Amino acid sequence: MQEATEHTEQLAEALLSYWGYDSFRPLQREAMECGMTGRDSVVVLPTGGGKSLCYQAPAACRDGVAVVVSPLISLMKDQVDALTACGIPAAALNSTLSTEEKRDITQRLREGEIKLLYAAPERLLLDGTLTFLTQLNVSFVAIDEAHCISAWGHDFRPEYRGLKVLREALPQVSMHAYTATASEKVRQDIASQLELRDPAMLVGSFDRPNLVYRVRRANQKLKQITDLVDRHRGESGIVYCISRKEVERTAEALRGLGVHAAPYHAGLSDQERHRNQEDFIEDRVQVIVATVAFGMGIDKPDVRFVAHTGLPKSVEHYQQESGRAGRDGLKSDCLLLFSPGDANTWRRMLASSDDQQSFNSAMQALNHMCDYANSVTCRHKSLVEFFGQAYEKDNCGACDVCLAELETVDEPLVLAQKIVSCVARLDQRFGGDYTSKVLAGSGEARILSSGHDRLSTYGLLKEYKPPVIRDWIEQLVGQGYLQKEGEYDVLQITETGLQLLKGDAQPRLLRPSAPAARQKKKASGDDWEGVDRKLFEKLRTLRGEQAAERGVPAYIVFGDTALRDMARLRPATLDAFSNVKGVGAKKLEDFGKLFVDAIADYCRANDVAPADPAPTVAARYAASEDDSPSLPAVAAFRHFREGLSIEETAAHLAKANSTVVGYLNQYLQHEQITDPTPWVERGLALRIEDAIEQVGLGRLKPIYEHLGGDVGYDEIRIVASCVANRG
Ligand code: ADP
Ligand code: ZN
Repeated sequence: MQEATEHTEQLAEALLSYWGYDSFRPLQREAMECGMTGRDSVVVLPTGGGKSLCYQAPAACRDGVAVVVSPLISLMKDQVDALTACGIPAAALNSTLSTEEKRDITQRLREGEIKLLYAAPERLLLDGTLTFLTQLNVSFVAIDEAHCISAWGHDFRPEYRGLKVLREALPQVSMHAYTATASEKVRQDIASQLELRDPAMLVGSFDRPNLVYRVRRANQKLKQITDLVDRHRGESGIVYCISRKEVERTAEALRGLGVHAAPYHAGLSDQERHRNQEDFIEDRVQVIVATVAFGMGIDKPDVRFVAHTGLPKSVEHYQQESGRAGRDGLKSDCLLLFSPGDANTWRRMLASSDDQQSFNSAMQALNHMCDYANSVTCRHKSLVEFFGQAYEKDNCGACDVCLAELETVDEPLVLAQKIVSCVARLDQRFGGDYTSKVLAGSGEARILSSGHDRLSTYGLLKEYKPPVIRDWIEQLVGQGYLQKEGEYDVLQITETGLQLLKGDAQPRLLRPSAPAARQKKKASGDDWEGVDRKLFEKLRTLRGEQAAERGVPAYIVFGDTALRDMARLRPATLDAFSNVKGVGAKKLEDFGKLFVDAIADYCRANDVAPADPAPTVAARYAASEDDSPSLPAVAAFRHFREGLSIEETAAHLAKANSTVVGYLNQYLQHEQITDPTPWVERGLALRIEDAIEQVGLGRLKPIYEHLGGDVGYDEIRIVASCVANRG
């Protein structure tokens, strides 16, 4: 599957030796190729899709310095810290630097030492900075959060508009834009505002398969939130509220329960907000309770849950806010609690500020959000389709609908038909409130005076209260059987609504005030599988200490993925440790011994077996079924071709010799190499070939025994591969 082009080899090596990663995420490779070849590009990947790596890896491979435009100082700092921890020299230009620091960075840039330079647009566009850049060897320009350039986006920053002067200042340098914003319009706008030249448009799927979405009626908000926090003891989470008052109340209540929770809203001083955010990033605060203002500038990869205590403003906002969970790809929870009153709260808040036109579009966005909350179709499907992409799976295994957690009524079709026919009887001229009252048989004056008490559908659902019926109406709107029209949200019957009346539909309606449903099935793909939890906790403490000592967030030391991998494999030697996902050369050197010792201690104290270094590792990276080499193996190809020995290659990639022998065998097979002598001394190779001739090219053991047991399996395997390639 891996086309071993020269670029792929270089990129594979960077991924492996700097980051300790063994594969590309979707579209990463294509995006990185653009960075390598200098083709302009627009890359759209969801949050957590791995956009940063798309420019960081080529920047690390290429000569010169990549200039990265980033909107916020906190984001830049985070990325520079993360790169430094991986051994890639990086720096950020910003207003908080002292004269001395600035001089130092300038110096290192001139010496060509820095691979990535981060800066905010307003700083880059200063005349002095531009002139300085033209004197450097700039490899390419990467524009992060590129939707900020578009007025159509949700986060327009006029200073991004100035970025096209970079093109004039650096005409030979390619430009690459990255965003998570799904809209086609924004995408086109980015390309034209930046005057990109025939850019590659790389648009990924917007689905976030590792997020488990649930929507619940807010019946006991606080309890619902604390239950969630409880299930995530010691893990980071964000709770979004509509109002400041609710933020304060919720944070207070969580603190009362012994949870480290801090508020975040516009009413706090800048200083307080900043401190709470830092405390969250560095794990001194577990839960941030925030108004929607929070989150921009948070790249924390290990947020394990995001809860909303009320309806978000729009599906775009929901996608953004819930999207802050699980950036590292591990399973995370998104819980949305809502009440029918939420829409009115927003309506009031929006009405007081905006002009009529923006009010209308805000209301439309809000309606879409209501539809989502009321819908009973797969949440992943709804979200992906909302952004105009198709969703193929029948059951996502990661939402309340697909996990069958929702309690539905027994005869939804009959119930739905009663409701839709009432809309028809009312000549499709009334809204949801009125319709539900007619169905409930209300004696309200306006119903009586219009004679609607004489309709055949009057009181047809009199055993239910109007709010319950009202909810069902929303659910039918959410499922497309009804739609709301005009300023007064008049109910109309759609094409599928007409089919429903004929009995040709399968609506789903929720049982009124269903008690907080139990979790029947477990969300699929448990990332905890095989993880030794006790060891994980021990390593987590160690990680926290190391992070505090260095003044960086814990995830800069190791991400949760790496930590879980360690607690799964129990690597108690440096060789075994080097194969943990997320351990590159620098981290192996900086933290390897410390963690390996802790793991060895743990294994002794608890009488469990540490990882068996060579065999498991070799098995893990064995050539895949389709015979194509694995990405880590591809990283080694260049070195084999250049005649480097196994030991030298192992040192380059910071991997164990035994692992590299595995790569070498993939190389021999892939390139159909017939001569083993670059790796096995000539005399020995001939002896082995002789033995193969005697006992045949079957299993290795007979060859080993024929040789008297004093020749290593590695050598035998290498020679055997070469003999096999001779046909
Ligand atoms: P985005 O900017 O698109 O939201 P990030 O660049 O922050 O995403 O990446 C999210 C997380 O995924 C980070 O922790 C990153 O190190 C990790 N990651 C990115 N690419 C890979 C990969 N190929 N293999 C494993 N982890 C990856
Ligand atoms: Zn689903």
